[in-house]
Parts: sequence; C-alpha cells; structure tokens
Amino acid sequence: MKFGTKAIHAGVEPDPTTGAIMTPIYQTSTYVQESPAKHKGYAYARGANPTRNQLQKNIAALENGKFGLCFSSGMGATDAVLRLLNPSDEVITSNDLYGGSYRLFTKVYERVGIKFHFVDLTDATDIEKYVTKKTKLVWLETPSNPLMRIIDIEACVSIAKKHKIQVAVDNTFASPYLQNPLDLGADVVMHSVTKYLGGHSDVIMGALIVNDEQLYKDLAFIANSCGAVPGPQDSFLVLRGIKTLHLRMERHCFNGRKIAEYLKNQPKVGKVYWPGFTDHPNHAIAKKQMKDFGGMLSFTLKNDNLENATTFMESVELFSLAESLGGVESLINHPASMTHASIPKEERIKNGLSDSLIRLSVGVEDIEDLIGDLEQALNKI
Ligand SMILES: *Cc1c(COP(=O)(O)O)cnc(C)c1O
Repeated sequence: MKFGTKAIHAGVEPDPTTGAIMTPIYQTSTYVQESPAKHKGYAYARGANPTRNQLQKNIAALENGKFGLCFSSGMGATDAVLRLLNPSDEVITSNDLYGGSYRLFTKVYERVGIKFHFVDLTDATDIEKYVTKKTKLVWLETPSNPLMRIIDIEACVSIAKKHKIQVAVDNTFASPYLQNPLDLGADVVMHSVTKYLGGHSDVIMGALIVNDEQLYKDLAFIANSCGAVPGPQDSFLVLRGIKTLHLRMERHCFNGRKIAEYLKNQPKVGKVYWPGFTDHPNHAIAKKQMKDFGGMLSFTLKNDNLENATTFMESVELFSLAESLGGVESLINHPASMTHASIPKEERIKNGLSDSLIRLSVGVEDIEDLIGDLEQALNKI
C-alpha cells in the first residue's frame, strides 16, 4: 500500500458487531471476562484499548514499522525511551533540541545519573568523539527546532551501529509523510502526535514506532507500568486526523515553499531558515532523506532586536501567536521567550537562536491570504 492509502486504511477495520466504518470510541476502563484466566485480549484499559490499538497499528504502518505504541504526550513517549537506560549510561544528542526534551534530559534524567552530550550532529562523525563504553543511545531530531538544521540519519546510524548504540529519531517536524527513519536504520521513531499526525490542534499525544520485538515489549512494559497512555477519545481524533495527513502535508509543503521564497526577497527580513533552499548548508541531505521540505521555517529580521520582532508578531492577523505546530491553522512563535525559554540565554545564543528569531508553522490556508498577512505585518516595522 502507498502512503495515502495507508493513512486511511492501515490498521483500521470495520467494527465487527455493527460494521461501523469509523473506529468506535471504546470508552471503558475495564473488560468483562468469561473466566479468571480467559479474556479477549483486553483486561484493563491502561494495558490495551481497541481504539488505541487501531491507532497504534495505523501509525506503525505510516512509519513502515512493525510495532507502534501511543502515549499521553510526546514527552511521555520520550520519557519511555529514556526509562530503558540505567544510571551512569550516556546519551549523545543534538544541540538544538526541542526545549521540552532538553528540559527532560537535563532536569530529570541528569539528576538520576544519566549523562548527556549535546553535540552538533550535522557532522555525524562528531559522534565518534563522544562515544564511551557507557554510551547507550543517540537521540536526534531532524529537521531541528527552530533552526531547521538537517542531520544525516543514515550516517549517524552507521556510526552508532559500529558501537552497538541504539538510535532514536524525533520525527515530529517531518511527519511520516516526509521521512521514515526506520527505513534508514534507526531503532526507534518518536512523534509528538500533537503536531502533524493529529493535525487539528485538539489533542496532546505521543507515539513510538519500532521494528524489534524485544524493544517493543520493553517499551510496552514501561507504558503499562508507568501509565502515560492516551484515552480512546483522543485516539479516535488522531485516527480521524491521519486520514488527511497526506493531503495536509502536500499543502503544508506548498505553502511553506511559497512563504520561504517570499520572505527571502523581503528587504526587512534577515536570514530565512528553510531546508529547501539550495544554499541551505544541509540541503543535499534534506533532499536525500526527505520527500519534500515541510511547512516549518524560521527567520530573523534585519533590524535584529526584540522590539521589532514583538511588533511583527503582534501585527499578524491570520497567523496566531501560539506554541505548537503542525495544525491546519498557521502559527507564529518566538522561540527565545516561548518554546525555548527553558534553555539558558548564553546557551541559546551560542546555538544560533537569536532574540529576533521568529518561527512559522505554515498551515493549509490559501497562500495569497498568508502572504498578504505577512506583508501587512512587515509594513508595520
Ligand atoms: C511538541 C514536541 C515534542 C513534545 O511533544 P508533546 O506532545 O508536546 O509532549 C517533542 N519534540 C518535538 C520536536 C516537538 O515539536
């Protein structure tokens, strides 16, 4: 099956009792058993729920993976992967990570004795410099947030495999439509389902996808033991959202390209970060491992100060000033004070995240209206 067909059909079957074409919302906490040692695969809903099961199969298929597991948030999914580690284990990870992941690593897991190396993984060979006998995991995010750097997944995997280190990829920004890390050799794919998969800004959810059965069992054990599982209503909403993932992504990519090109030609705009530009430093890798370049981009203003950026963000009307991304509606965000506020300022600036940096999550509205909105806001600064 090809991607669009999988989005609509994979893992989903008509309800066996009524034939309902849409997956029912099994709003139940427990299941009645015939006898103490006999049940239909469902005993208690923390462990399994039919609505969630269909969603997990569907998401696994989108990533060309064998097993999927859904969590109550993207951070819940990331947390489950880190729970595979033991005190004194080491992790090599990228240095412009999602702010919440950085916070989880440094504030929660460093406290229990896990060591993180934050490295510029755009040069994969740098991994070698940080490998020790204690290295258990490479955690990477590409495209990165918010600077849209691209990491060569295959190159990282080949170095990690040499040292028997597992590789996990946060695939949230690309979505499974643009990039499938398991196909490139990664061991775990993580999604903040909240973003493109859900797609309608109405659900918080996370997912992990793996091919290895033992790894799946270990993660399923953690999911059931720690309990960060999503409810059936949310599972239904995501199943529904995914049915148009391929259509939404086509429009996100189209609009993203148009806006990146528009901004690049504006005299008041400084740098535009979008991997589709041929002069983007990682363009060749983006072209190799992604199907298109997505709807995320960032830019700075030539007059690089906070007031200018603030005026711009207060002037847009169609773009909503909000955290998050990947929904049908266009959002504008100020990483320094919003999504990345938990990163210390010196660290933030050192990593290229300047005070005037503005991030756009380009939605699926009509492009003329989006560009018109940016234009009127640029005229105000
Ligand atoms: C949002 C996001 C997360 C966290 O997901 P939640 O669903 O908000 O918990 C992780 N990684 C990236 C890249 C994200 O954008």
